[in-house]
Amino acid sequence: MSEHASSEHASRLVLVINCGSSSIKFALVDEQRSGFVLHGLADRLGSDEAWLRWQHGDGSSSRQERALGQADPRQAMEALLPVVRECAGDRLTAVGHRVVHGGEHFTAACRIDDATRQAIQDAAALAPLHNPANLMGIEAATALFPQLPHIAVFDTAFHQSMPAYAYRYAIPEALYAEQRVRRYGFHGTSHRYVTDEAARMTGLSPADSGWLSAHLGNGCSTCAVQAGASRDTSMGFTPLEGLVMGTRSGDVDPNLHGFLGRTLGWSLEKIDTVLNRESGLLGLSGLSNDMRELEQARSQGHDGATLAIEVFCYRLAKSLASLCCALTRLDGVIFTGGIGENSPLIRATTIAHLSMLGLALDDEANQRCVRGVAGAIEKTSTPIHVLVVPTDEERQIAMESLACLDADSPTERGT
Ligand code: ADP
Repeated sequence: MSEHASSEHASRLVLVINCGSSSIKFALVDEQRSGFVLHGLADRLGSDEAWLRWQHGDGSSSRQERALGQADPRQAMEALLPVVRECAGDRLTAVGHRVVHGGEHFTAACRIDDATRQAIQDAAALAPLHNPANLMGIEAATALFPQLPHIAVFDTAFHQSMPAYAYRYAIPEALYAEQRVRRYGFHGTSHRYVTDEAARMTGLSPADSGWLSAHLGNGCSTCAVQAGASRDTSMGFTPLEGLVMGTRSGDVDPNLHGFLGRTLGWSLEKIDTVLNRESGLLGLSGLSNDMRELEQARSQGHDGATLAIEVFCYRLAKSLASLCCALTRLDGVIFTGGIGENSPLIRATTIAHLSMLGLALDDEANQRCVRGVAGAIEKTSTPIHVLVVPTDEERQIAMESLACLDADSPTERGT
């Protein structure tokens, strides 16, 4: 911990980094103040037109930007360093890195050292697009901030509390033991944040409450959380399993692969592309993967958009209903992510399918909770809450990073 962090008065700042293959999202989080001190994005990295854009959270400046030429992630990190330094002064205490896949190794946030790097590398076979990019960000940031502690926070770690009956597929045991084929789940940082917030908003103890959370962005997943722990989730071995998403199909019959290969001669790569990039809302509507656009088209009578929204909501409700099996009590259903936080239509259509559970919405409250407004939207006469909770993955990563530092005893399995 830095000198500053141990002082009584100064609140600590954490730089949160989410490094993808062609972009770096970053945010400077103050442990004691909501919002961001600074946030920004370096994108189109590796092309001829890389850009760095940033904004101070206090409204003291408009958005600023700088062309980065052909910058790679390391060069982009070098460009954002002075901006972060100037803003953070000596209060920067740690760097928290979002890492997509921790396999079975990581059950919580973990301080980055050689063993952690190796374990992230080992999990790269499970997330070949994401983990190498996350590691690249870790290398670049540790080279630039060598004096600071760096912490990895994993999308999968929260779901490591799932029981084996929820995470195992009914396939030969050797595929689990030798190839690590099992359900992992993703969006763990978001599900954890919104269920903690839901307990706080309703005055319930996280240790003594049960929630169903629906994270609905471009990727979508549901999660059952009891006593602060994930008990089951809709995404599986990869983020393709489960709900209908922007361009991902979600669940399909596993025999579909064989059928498409035999009848159309499609390769595995082609099938992979179709199910991950050309399906979901985009595939069903034939129009767009963007929910705003689909709602607009539906209001003008577009059949594909209407069907895509119907399938999306029905499959979401079905997933929420099935996840009740993972709970012994249900205190509330939570909507979050760009769609969950902003679409009264999607919330109303989904909850209408769940009247068997005694869920019903207050129309006025449902309309009111958009653009960052959190709140309860259930009819007051119903026993189960329905909540809109804006997610804040950066804050969750920052707080888990600080908790990891404070405990200074990362909880890892097998190490
Ligand atoms: P990501 O998963 O990339 O972080 P977001 O959480 O930002 O994505 O969610 C993006 C989705 O949220 C898009 O489908 C977008 O159309 C949808 N969305 C954003 N605002 C609205 C709105 N007002 N009504 C309906 N959908 C919305």
